[in-house]
Amino acid sequence: MDIKNIVCSLNDKVRTPFYLYDEKVILENINRLNDVFCKKNFGVLYAMKANSNPYILKLVKNAEMGIDACSVEEVKIALICGFSPESIYYNADCLNSDEIDFAVERNVNLVIGSLDALYYLVKKHSGHELSLRLNSGIGAGHSSKVITNGELSKFGINFSDIPEAIRLCKNGGLKIVGIHSHTGSGEMGIASYVENANVMLDISLQFDSLRFINFGGGFGYDYKDHQEYDIDSLSENIRQLSSARGAKDNIRLIVEPGRYLVANTAILVSKVCSVKESSSRNFLGLDTGHNHFPRCFYYDAWHDIENISTLSNEMISYDITGYLCQSGDIFARQRLLPKTKVGDLICIKDVGAYGYSMSSNFNSRVRPGEYLVDTEDNFSMIRRPECFEDIISTFNLD
Ligand SMILES: *Cc1c(COP(=O)(O)O)cnc(C)c1O
Repeated sequence: MDIKNIVCSLNDKVRTPFYLYDEKVILENINRLNDVFCKKNFGVLYAMKANSNPYILKLVKNAEMGIDACSVEEVKIALICGFSPESIYYNADCLNSDEIDFAVERNVNLVIGSLDALYYLVKKHSGHELSLRLNSGIGAGHSSKVITNGELSKFGINFSDIPEAIRLCKNGGLKIVGIHSHTGSGEMGIASYVENANVMLDISLQFDSLRFINFGGGFGYDYKDHQEYDIDSLSENIRQLSSARGAKDNIRLIVEPGRYLVANTAILVSKVCSVKESSSRNFLGLDTGHNHFPRCFYYDAWHDIENISTLSNEMISYDITGYLCQSGDIFARQRLLPKTKVGDLICIKDVGAYGYSMSSNFNSRVRPGEYLVDTEDNFSMIRRPECFEDIISTFNLD
């Protein structure tokens, strides 16, 4: 999509800030994953926490991928969007009994990451099938906050507890049909992913009724240099390891990327509200903040930022800031942009993953709307902007 043309043709009809998605790019990502992973005994789940907009979920469903859900709410959304219970994998460590009961009643796949949940299942749902989330010790990620294996990780059952988990399930009439392990999020190299897969294939030999091994998500996206994440070589490595280990042909090999499907599919369009220039530092203030797009604030993440309004050739170094009452609300420091004025439109790019899905109402601000350009270049709203009434809808004013 030609962002500039489309945004400029909206001609102020859509209030800034707003998310704008490109359906063509979403479909390209989905098709590429399906080309590489849906052959033979591979399967793909979409980790919907990256972006749970129903329009995107519909595209995922049409491509016959399943869902990795990490909350009861996500399970419910996936069901509403038409995913069958068998295609939904509910993966969480801190499950309360209501959540376990719900998953069992709805017959979605349970991925259990703690012995405590197993104790409960043995007591209440004997005869049920489940899979185990394991902490293989091999973690990776773009930030320490998103590494999910290893000694410091809260996720999964430790390898040393596997015998206890197997014993519990055997005695309690639970059938372990899968094992799962997720190294972490967003690392560009594939070495840790492959190493983890190797360890999981090894450990799978301890289980006698497995139908699948889930190697997790975490496929990287290179926000700065835009190098490709090598899913071809990743799938080839897993394929080779799996045959070298003598894994049975009827065991499905599952991957569950989130970011990979959506990272490059959206921009956040905002408007410049203030320009402060001084001899030492120049600030551009936008009409959005980390409440709408938190990755820069949480992870110091780099995102390309473009001024799509100006034709100026004069380049200036700006700190690009959000509108929140918090000094850390900065999207980028000392970024070169053409000389910018109040009213210019600024696009923050590659915001499709962990953007809207991590947004909040901090400062009692409303969330923006989400819009999409479809494959025929039609523009539509796929989520309305919030309004003030949404903010106060949960208040008890009596
Ligand atoms: C977050 C998460 C994913 C997806 O991670 P990405 O980095 O977005 O691919 C997959 N599986 C599990 C268990 C997760 O927690």
